[in-house]
Amino acid sequence: MTAAEHAVPIKPTLSWRSFGPHRRTPVRSVLDAGNRLEVTSGRIAIAIALQNLGVQPGDEVLVPAYHCGAMVEPIVALGATPVFYRISPATTVDLDHISARLSSATKALIVTHYFGFPQPMQSVLAFATEHKLGLIEDCAHMFFGSVAELAPGAHGDYAIASAMKFFPVYDGGYLISRKHPIDDSKVRSAGVLFDIKSLFASIEYGASHKRLWPVSSILRLAFAAKDRLWTTFKRAYPAVSEQPLGPSSSDGGASFDSRWIDIGMSRPSRLLIKLADTSRIVDARRSNFLLMLRLLEKAPRLTPVFRELPPNVVPHVFPILLDDPRSIPELRAAGVPLLHFGEQLWPNMDEGICPVSVDYSRRLVQLPCHQDLSAQDITRIADRAVEALSSLRQS
Ligand SMILES: *Cc1c(COP(=O)(O)O)cnc(C)c1O
Repeated sequence: MTAAEHAVPIKPTLSWRSFGPHRRTPVRSVLDAGNRLEVTSGRIAIAIALQNLGVQPGDEVLVPAYHCGAMVEPIVALGATPVFYRISPATTVDLDHISARLSSATKALIVTHYFGFPQPMQSVLAFATEHKLGLIEDCAHMFFGSVAELAPGAHGDYAIASAMKFFPVYDGGYLISRKHPIDDSKVRSAGVLFDIKSLFASIEYGASHKRLWPVSSILRLAFAAKDRLWTTFKRAYPAVSEQPLGPSSSDGGASFDSRWIDIGMSRPSRLLIKLADTSRIVDARRSNFLLMLRLLEKAPRLTPVFRELPPNVVPHVFPILLDDPRSIPELRAAGVPLLHFGEQLWPNMDEGICPVSVDYSRRLVQLPCHQDLSAQDITRIADRAVEALSSLRQS
């Protein structure tokens, strides 16, 4: 058995419970916001949004100082310059600082709903309109919920979303717009090999976490056989097998590969999203978040970033601020599944621009609260975290 089989899955995991009716949920999703284009990742959607807004080499794009590489890479790939702006400790955008960062070359503004908690979009939209900026709403963490009574993504010229963060899929991103038509004539399929890769990746991840019981053991044997075949194939046909079957965005990489710009989402991903039980996703994420909050509210050496869960929020993760960033490896060693959004800030993002972002980059980590974790899983994660932090030597 591998370590992964004992580990709690860090992201949504395919299981029999993934499927169910698309029941009406009290909250909306980004797919309700408007027209859409289905691509392979959120970062590809950002690139197309920038292109559609007419961003040219030499233009400036305002992007939050607290970010991941996938938000900045598309800007740089188009030859434009990222200009970083401040966020508050509550992760809300600082409009005064954005104002101070404007120049005659500023073309667009990207605003991120961190961890599923909405930004004040009415004032952001008023600002963008006043300064004639294209507005991109980054809903990578906010697939479900609502923002000022509208679906996530409805305020921006364009919105982007990432399917992998909310569904048990290998690839998937959306470009969405309530305000502009979306041209899908250039989008083509990557072909049947990509579809197979996508389907296998979802099943394999589910099986490795024993979520596809009772067929998991059979599937694991099948995948071991597949891996051996694949290794043999790669030795026999090195040229063919050097071509990656999927984008690096699907393997946790932060890089941007423009070859995937006009490629549509794989068919298995589309189908899994269509068949997903959305109300289960919404309910489970909210109740897991609330349980985690109850268990960690008074825990020593960490502070939950959000101590309330408003009714319009369907969280992506449970963010915690650690007293000491040196406890991150200790938590990992204790088997606590940790995400670390914003760990790598863009190299020229200097500390003076936004001390909060630099601090958060070091100390803010995220625990999973997705729909495929049970109350027992959440309790186990919280217990392990508390134990690991309390066993640290007082420094
Ligand atoms: C993950 C992420 C993206 C990019 O999404 P991918 O689907 O991984 O390309 C964009 N913005 C934020 C805030 C993200 O966390």
